Amino acid sequence: ARRHISLKESIRSIPDYPKPGIVFRDITTLLSDPRSFRRAVDALVHPYAGGGIKQVAGIEARGFILGGAIAHQLSCGFVPIRKRGKLPHKTVSMAYALEYGTDEIEIHVDAVGPGDRVLLVDDLIATGGTATAAINLLRKIGAEVVAACFVIDLPEIGGAQRLRDMGVDVRTLMEFE
Ligand code: IMP
Repeated sequence: ARRHISLKESIRSIPDYPKPGIVFRDITTLLSDPRSFRRAVDALVHPYAGGGIKQVAGIEARGFILGGAIAHQLSCGFVPIRKRGKLPHKTVSMAYALEYGTDEIEIHVDAVGPGDRVLLVDDLIATGGTATAAINLLRKIGAEVVAACFVIDLPEIGGAQRLRDMGVDVRTLMEFE
């Protein structure tokens, strides 16, 4: 019988995507492998079991897949943070810098209750620009952002440290250069 692959081996690396010189870390191969998906979700959930998290906030789009599974396992609610223009009700939005230009994410104004303890989820943290904008949005609508978790950290870029400096507990499952 074939041995089981490690969680890190379940990630597919795509050179020169989306542009030359960038190696894209693709989690679709982790998600489609039943053991890897379960192991990743279990490992992300474990530190927060019994920790009084009320809502899991996922960042579009891969943060929805992981965040939905994590919320279910923690018996929490799930709150989507989406790209501009996708949410139907009243929103607050936040622009953040990309390498070229800016992007904008939004959340429903009433997505969480005052003081709700929230866990933020996405697949990967690089500069931390996306997650920082998400934390600022959550704080703006009254959430207490307890922690943020990611499958992949690119530690040399410094995003995880940036979040820790904002007082957020950060957990990741693996690192790539
Ligand atoms: P940051 O804002 O620089 O931390 O970039 C993180 C955001 O970009 C997350 O929403 C990720 O989903 C996405 N991202 C950046 N690089 C990759 C990658 O190599 N694989 C998957 N997602 C990535």
